[in-house]
Amino acid sequence: MKVAVFGTRRYDVDSLEKATPKGSGLEYTFIEALLDHTTVVLAKDHDAICLFVNDTCDKAILETLHELGVKYVALRCAGFNNVDLSAASKLNIHVVRVPAYSPEAVAEFAVGMIMTIVRKYHKAYNRVREGNFLLDGLVGINLNGKTVGLIGTGKIGLLTGRILAHGFRCKVIAYDPYPSKVADEYGVTYVNTLDDLLERSDIISLHCPLTESTKYIINDDSLSKMKRGVILINTSRGGLIDTYALIRALKSGHLKAVGLDVYEKESNYFFADSSAKVISDDTFARLLSFYNVFMTGHQAFLTEEALENISDTTIQNLLDLESKGTSENIVVHQ
Ligand code: NAD
Repeated sequence: MKVAVFGTRRYDVDSLEKATPKGSGLEYTFIEALLDHTTVVLAKDHDAICLFVNDTCDKAILETLHELGVKYVALRCAGFNNVDLSAASKLNIHVVRVPAYSPEAVAEFAVGMIMTIVRKYHKAYNRVREGNFLLDGLVGINLNGKTVGLIGTGKIGLLTGRILAHGFRCKVIAYDPYPSKVADEYGVTYVNTLDDLLERSDIISLHCPLTESTKYIINDDSLSKMKRGVILINTSRGGLIDTYALIRALKSGHLKAVGLDVYEKESNYFFADSSAKVISDDTFARLLSFYNVFMTGHQAFLTEEALENISDTTIQNLLDLESKGTSENIVVHQ
């Protein structure tokens, strides 16, 4: 099976090659570019394409893929919001994903992001390297006893809750339309409504997927219901936050600080070196300019363990599709 792997970085190449069993028949073409309308032709002569979070796989691209003979789309991520599943299903292109590669990686990163913000590690690091050992401006807050609200209590949300409740003795509350039966064991208590969570939390962390119903779940209205001085963390998907509303809440001082590993238009910048380029997205540039916004480039998943799991599952998904025509990780259009 010939697989065109889009959006590849060195760590993807290393990990896929290491995980591929000898004699599997899988042959990769590693392509640095993301899949979009201009790069889709590179899928010619391949049976499958392999994508990550910022590739575009809309109806027109899927139609071209179909014409080029591509039968499978293997996502090396959990989210599938970038694939038009309805179009894929009509074209009989099977879509598979990696439902869980390391929820611990993301949960630990989210907690690290909270710690960075509340104790200002990032500012201290720069200051000390420049020989400035003053502590002015570095006053933090204790996490102990704070109320943390989790929006979404799937695999990542619950693990984040467990670290915060059991490790830091935070009061962890959560909202999820499909509550987990084991939340108690993780030290997580549900509130009845999202508004209740917004009103009570000192720190809010997003762990729900991006769907039509969660798009801009953080907007002017939900931000106004949060306590003044709240800290907001998003390691989930950029589209959960209306960035204009976020900027308004930052400018008014309503938000104490924000930690973002994702941004709604991140595909223009993330996973590439833009250090010698002018940022033309003014909204993104404004976000980066706030002293109290801490941003990383969709890095939460990136651990050795996660990369190994992503490669193992992706390879198994492709081999299953080829041998059985299906896979336990197939994504079905609802
Ligand atoms: P999951 O499917 O296990 O859990 C998602 C939870 O969100 C479910 O319990 C679901 O009921 C809940 N949910 C759905 N709609 C909701 C709503 N309106 N309000 C509150 N909760 C709602 O997913 P997961 O593995 O925990 O991952 C969560 C998200 O993290 C993914 O969707 C993905 O976007 C993101 N993610 C980010 C990275 C990264 O590197 N930054 C890596 C992996 C996953």
